[in-house]
Amino acid sequence: MGQLNTFPLSYKVQGLRIVIVGGGEEALNKVRLATKTTAQVVIVSRHIEADFSGFAVKQVERAFEPADLDGAALVFVAEEGVDAELAKAEARARGIPLNVVDVPAECDFYTPSIVERAPLTIAISSEGNAPVLARLVRARIEAMLPPGFGKIASLAGRLRQRVESVIHDGAARRRYYEALVTSPQVESAVAASPIAGQYQAELLLEQHVQAGSAKGVVWLIGAGPGSEDLLTLRAQRLLQEADVIVYDQLVPTVVVDMGRRDAERIDVGKAKGHHSFSQAQINTLIVRLAGQGKRVARLKSGDPMVFGRAGEEISALRKAGIPYSIVPGISAALAAAADTATPVTLRGVSSGFIMATAHGADDSDLQHWAALARSGLTLALYMGKSIASDVAGRLVAHGASPLTPVGIVVNAGRPDATAYGGTLRSLMDGDGTFVDGPAIILVGEAVAAGDWAAAAQFSAQNFKVA
Ligand code: SAH
Repeated sequence: MGQLNTFPLSYKVQGLRIVIVGGGEEALNKVRLATKTTAQVVIVSRHIEADFSGFAVKQVERAFEPADLDGAALVFVAEEGVDAELAKAEARARGIPLNVVDVPAECDFYTPSIVERAPLTIAISSEGNAPVLARLVRARIEAMLPPGFGKIASLAGRLRQRVESVIHDGAARRRYYEALVTSPQVESAVAASPIAGQYQAELLLEQHVQAGSAKGVVWLIGAGPGSEDLLTLRAQRLLQEADVIVYDQLVPTVVVDMGRRDAERIDVGKAKGHHSFSQAQINTLIVRLAGQGKRVARLKSGDPMVFGRAGEEISALRKAGIPYSIVPGISAALAAAADTATPVTLRGVSSGFIMATAHGADDSDLQHWAALARSGLTLALYMGKSIASDVAGRLVAHGASPLTPVGIVVNAGRPDATAYGGTLRSLMDGDGTFVDGPAIILVGEAVAAGDWAAAAQFSAQNFKVA
């Protein structure tokens, strides 16, 4: 390991001044940082040019005077010229730590990139060598910590004595704090108000005391359509927390891989021809795992509440008294709409959007097809790829115009997304072959407003989405 040339520390500035010499953009950058502290921030410059009005900063528009450094804890020099030189000399003479913007050789200290969730601060420093890298690392850490994390940290601080008095076992206490900082309920309560946060935290404490030990939980998590960057931050965080990840066949490896490295992974995928779990077995499995005190991430493609059999799993969890929460995800229909720039609702064209199955309902399910055909709304049909021509036929048979625009997106939301466009008529007449992968069928006049320029056609016949 290389050695550091700087010493990382948190420096007290409360009740002191931070003096910034300069009045331009560079000074503004430092003001932004300095005003995050309780120090009195002062800028001194003959030319105050940037707009400092949004910050609690004292503006001194004149030449620098040595007395400006009275009571200063830190000095930033963010301009060049005689004032700058005077300020540097004065700071050095007084032994006040100095930062000269963009001149590492003249700096006594560097400002790290920070992730701030006061009172929690994470500083990332490259000792001035690679600020871009430091910012990149910072962005990653930002994504890991919910915005209210600092408030949760304060909450944990306030609850400390109480927790110690009711949970005596150290390991159990740690589990409580872990649960506290990762609970979506506490997170949203804290965001609402401190009292709501306190209430949720105490509720959780009671649960832990009652359980006496680790209590398992099941998170039903939407994995989105299959690209790792279409996962929510909350999903990512809980995947990192989970002891076990139970996932479906449609959830791609890249997403499953985002879990903790040592988490157990169980594929309950319903791959054709392979052994797979029945829904009843999955229900039993998640109840059993959580019953053993494990934190279970139940990963489903898209959104868990849309054709995800979440209803059955939730009712099993309720029956067993296992705590659970749901993390929404981007459903395939919305990814398909995004890929093809299709506004599923459109003023004057489509006043609504229906997510429906193309499969669960067969020919005999007249009501289903009649309702869809007559709705006049944009339809997103799931699980219909292998019967796409039949689906078009049924809609037409139930009164939809054969000229209704249709778009099919296979592998929506993924790098290899492939679109097909046409009308109900041309889909009926088409050869019904598409590339491999799950597909969404979008139907309705609003589809024509999308960008289907790159879309293939259903057959060789002439049809077109305008
Ligand atoms: N809960 C999921 C749907 C699961 S049902 C969601 O909200 O998206 C499985 C069906 O979803 C597939 O048959 C297909 O119609 C659709 N689907 C899932 N992922 C898809 C994707 N990446 N592109 C297109 N359709 C997809």
